[in-house]
Amino acid sequence: MKHSILMTFAAMIVFVSSLTETAAQPTENEQPDGEQHNWGEYSTHYETIDARSHEYTYWKNFIERTRTCDISHKIKSVVYYCDVHDHTDTEIFLEEIIHSEEHE
Ligand SMILES: [Zn+2]
Ligand SMILES: [Zn+2]
Repeated sequence: MKHSILMTFAAMIVFVSSLTETAAQPTENEQPDGEQHNWGEYSTHYETIDARSHEYTYWKNFIERTRTCDISHKIKSVVYYCDVHDHTDTEIFLEEIIHSEEHE
């Protein structure tokens, strides 16, 4: 009886120590010097992406007509570079939603 309690206790110690070991690993992988990022804008570019099309109705000569309007998104992407850790980061902004047709 006493023996089995000891065994359980020993197994628990192994279990707990393996837990603390895995928990300690991610912190070791972080920047050891803990230096702050030094993000600077590296490049900026714009592109237009076709998003979807939709139909709209309008009146002409007292007749209701349907037209298709293409929607595109004007995207701005900014690349940042951090010279402390030599890595980049990208941020994407939606600048504008453009309708190919003018409508209400
Ligand atoms: Zn950095
Ligand atoms: Zn539209």
